[in-house]
Formats: sequence, C-alpha cells, structure tokens
Amino acid sequence: MRHREFHRTERIGWLRAAVLGANDGIVSTASLLIGVAAANAERSGVLIAGLAGLVAGAMSMAAGEYVSVYSQADTEKADLEREKRELAADDEGERMELAGIYVKRGLEPKLAREVADQLMAHDALGAHARDELGISEELRARPVQAAVFSAISFSLGAALPLLIAVMVPTGILIPVIAVGSLACLAGLGALAARTGGSSILTGALRVLFWGAAAMVATAAVGKLFGAVV
Ligand SMILES: [Zn+2]
Repeated sequence: MRHREFHRTERIGWLRAAVLGANDGIVSTASLLIGVAAANAERSGVLIAGLAGLVAGAMSMAAGEYVSVYSQADTEKADLEREKRELAADDEGERMELAGIYVKRGLEPKLAREVADQLMAHDALGAHARDELGISEELRARPVQAAVFSAISFSLGAALPLLIAVMVPTGILIPVIAVGSLACLAGLGALAARTGGSSILTGALRVLFWGAAAMVATAAVGKLFGAVV
C-alpha cells in the first residue's frame, strides 16, 4: 500500500496571492465606483474614477509587493553571504552548530553529528540555509514575479466592477455593481477555502462581510459629500 499525502502549502502560496490581489481589485474598485456614483456624479466621471482606481491600485500593489519581497530577498542574500563566510572561516564550528540544531529536533548527538557531516559533504551551504536560516529553494523570494503577479491579479479583479459599470445603465449602477461584485467575492473566497482545504462557507462569508462593509462605507461617504460639495 502506498501512502500518499497531499500537501497544500505550496499551492496556497500562489493561489492565496492571486485571490488576495483579485479581492483587493474587486473591493476597492467596486467601492470607488459606488462612492462616486452615490455622489450623483456623471457616468463619465464614475468610469474615469474607476479606471484611475484600477491603474493606481495595480501600481501600488506592484510597488508594495516589490519592495517587501525585495527587502526579504536582500535579507536572505545577506544571510547566505554571512553563512558562506562562516563556513569558510570555521568549518568545525559550523559542523557543531548544525549538529546542535538536529539534536534540538530530537536526534542523538552522535547521529546528529553524522547527519551534519554527510549533509555538509553533499552541500554545506544548502544544509545551513535550510536548517539554520530556514531558506529553501522553493521559498526564495522573487520580487519581480511577485510585483507583476499582484498587479495582474489586482487588475483582473478591478476589471470586473468596471465592466459592470460600462454595461449597466446609470440608474441601477449601484445595486448591480454591489451584487455582482459581492457574488464574485463570495466565489473567490469559496475557491480559496476549497483549495486551502478549509470551510467553504466561512471563506465566502468572511470576504463577503468585508466587501460589503467597504461598499457601504464608500456609499455613505459619497452620499454625504455628494450632497455637500
Ligand atoms: Zn551555519
């Protein structure tokens, strides 16, 4: 009998980022459109606001993601450089250090030392990167990919309420954007929950709540200031 386990962590990483980006795009653009429409703005003003929101959001997602992932990559690089120097300077010390880590994880000292020696003979820096620094090849930070990826997923999400705004007559704009966007949010939340192996209903309800809250808030602001300005 072969024993098989499905590990979802790897898949969740990308899917989570994609769903988060799309969620952001839907919520912020739908809220923006609803807020501007609630202020009785003209159709062209509503659409321009939505389009500007899409571009601004995508750029800010890309910039934020790039900076955060880049600084993480910088830290990893510096850690690896330091580790490389330590390995060159103090071989015995590094062997003891790695063996010590395995002892803490439950190996007997003699076996831990053997494991450390064998792993270091195979790939000393790799062994220290993995077991001392917690950096593995699959988890290495990739700033440009992350930036492009989140900009694209945000734009795809933002395009949805914007398309609704283009197609639907002005009179029913607000309810149609709200219902359409919330339906997509619920669907995305359910998809993310399903792939992540957690409760579909909870996943959908959670995003529904925050999406609805954002739209109500901007609608209120639009109504309030639309009457004043
Ligand atoms: Zn080390």
